[in-house]
Amino acid sequence: MPRVRRVVPTEKDQPLGLVCRGCGCQHFRVLYLKRIAGAIVRRRECRHCGRRVSTREAQA
Ligand SMILES: [Zn+2]
Repeated sequence: MPRVRRVVPTEKDQPLGLVCRGCGCQHFRVLYLKRIAGAIVRRRECRHCGRRVSTREAQA
């Protein structure tokens, strides 16, 4: 039986499965966001190790 990974979002704007590759945590703060071609791009920074990632979300 395959393992099902449950992800419970704590914030509405937190994409599921976003994990810091540096320390493995899921705590990010948003530096800024911008809209590109109908999508929302968020620049995030890990609260623990400071690694930065950007996420792209389709805007409905
Ligand atoms: Zn981190």
